Amino acid sequence: MFKNNDDIKRCKRCILSENFPRIKFDSNGVCNFCNNELLHITEDEDIDKSRDEVINLLNKNKGQAEYDAIVCYSGGKDSTYTLKLAVEKYKLKVLSFTLDNGFISPVAFSNIEKVVSELGIDQITYRPSYKFMKGLFRISSLDNIYNPKTLTRISANCNSCISIVNNMALKMAMEKNIPFILAGFTLGQIPSSTIFYQNNYEFLAESRKPILDKFKAELGSDVSKHLEISQELIKKSKGYPYNINLLCLEDITEDEIVEQILPLGWVKPKDVDGCSTNCRINSFNNYVHIKKFGYSPYELELSHLIRKNLLTRDEALKKLFDQPQEQIDFVKAELRIDDSMLEKY
Ligand SMILES: [Zn+2]
Repeated sequence: MFKNNDDIKRCKRCILSENFPRIKFDSNGVCNFCNNELLHITEDEDIDKSRDEVINLLNKNKGQAEYDAIVCYSGGKDSTYTLKLAVEKYKLKVLSFTLDNGFISPVAFSNIEKVVSELGIDQITYRPSYKFMKGLFRISSLDNIYNPKTLTRISANCNSCISIVNNMALKMAMEKNIPFILAGFTLGQIPSSTIFYQNNYEFLAESRKPILDKFKAELGSDVSKHLEISQELIKKSKGYPYNINLLCLEDITEDEIVEQILPLGWVKPKDVDGCSTNCRINSFNNYVHIKKFGYSPYELELSHLIRKNLLTRDEALKKLFDQPQEQIDFVKAELRIDDSMLEKY
């Protein structure tokens, strides 16, 4: 049995800790998230409903442009499997898109090479300057820029990085009239109401304005380049593409995913933490999050997988505590951040 290596009280069934927002434990030490039957029923209903609607949407819109879908491809296991699903199960013409955030493991890059060659698809890699990415991560780590509710599911740095992925994928889709953007999120990472949705840039820009203003004040005009879409493009585009998270429609364990992608040449990188299969800044992101909030940004996702019987509690704890110190120290040095700068939220 894997031992808790911190002294935090955790749910006996999942791994949510006493520091998680709005958590309560019953007399058996089981949390209110595990005990909320209604939440689980709503989620199952959302999945069933989304499955039919996604198939209809795909059938209605594919075959009309150069590509049917852009797949946001990080080189990690979940997006690798999403790419495979898009090509082999849904028969889509896809364009694979990778954001190089400056911290991608070299093994993940070689995985991207092998997988896109094996699947026979086009690949675009976008790399903002390392200086910009480090600046973005530094502000996201030090300043409390995001709503704490957003941060129950994701670290601030991951959220900043994914904002660039989403923006650049949306920009490309609008330029090329591609109807779909596919990402590899699972239901532990996103709410079941967002398995698929149509983009709306105006709405997004409005809600994100204060955050972008903060970034612009410190990072200048590069922020617009990577995180905004011009009015000109909005005017000439045929409409907003849909985002779909195909993996949410599959009932598949992590081991089964890995088994499916190994034949494509995918290899598990060794220079990442237990919660990532591609990114070397992740353990630092988790470290900052725990310092600020007292819980890991992966607790919700891993707990969700446990409740779905897709991961055991021991496996989840092992991942949670596999946070290599040398990775954390490496990023601290790159971003010039020390512990005294990290204040509680
Ligand atoms: Zn629980």
